[in-house]
Amino acid sequence: MIMKRIIIAIDGPAASGKSTAAKLLAQKLRYIYLDTGAMYRACAVAAKRAGIDILDQTALVELLSKIDVKVLFTEAGNVIHLNDEDVSQAIREPDISNLASAISAQKVVREKMVQLQREMGRNGGVVLDGRDIGTVVFPNAELKFFLVAPLEVRAQRRFLELQSKGHQPVFEQVLQEMRKRDAADSSRDLAPLVAAEDAIHVDSKDYSIEEMVEVLYRHYHKLVEAGC
Ligand code: C5P
Repeated sequence: MIMKRIIIAIDGPAASGKSTAAKLLAQKLRYIYLDTGAMYRACAVAAKRAGIDILDQTALVELLSKIDVKVLFTEAGNVIHLNDEDVSQAIREPDISNLASAISAQKVVREKMVQLQREMGRNGGVVLDGRDIGTVVFPNAELKFFLVAPLEVRAQRRFLELQSKGHQPVFEQVLQEMRKRDAADSSRDLAPLVAAEDAIHVDSKDYSIEEMVEVLYRHYHKLVEAGC
């Protein structure tokens, strides 16, 4: 039987487990996985290096005309290129999270990134994770999830992740920054972090990673069986 290759949107706040779940689900389905947050992070790295004020529209437009953000799909996951340089590590530096959040609120940036995301995902067979996939990028995606988890749980995950990378985070600070980023992402005018009306809500604190992928897979399976 030839299965239709659908578009799966996974949205949610920072450290809600969406990237890990999206990546594993894509592997299981032999789909492409696209981390859209990484693309905004690459823009943030470019802005930081250029030393521009991201509220300066002229500088931002000029920067965007000079940068090429590419996502390579590899066995190990997404490799992010900024003008042919692998910035997969640089985009994970702690200060880039806030800068990515700020730059992603700018219309010119979103327009360019959303266009690239649509090009990469339009043929289906793709799992995308982000903040606005089910609402803006692919509002007609066949399957949409909205992953959540309590702020403390997400901050703890980020704290451990930073520690494992050799940083020396302070839990209170990680928590405050995450709270601030959640608020900024949810309250912005453009493509705010909100669940699509038809998204399936999943609380990742209730599951291990394996269980969560299984939950998402079961929804996929039900949909395909129903002949989506
Ligand atoms: O998912 P991640 O934490 O890597 O995303 C970094 C930032 O990029 C987010 O805080 C959010 O502001 C922005 N983003 C976005 N739309 C997406 C994905 C990420 O605005 N689809």
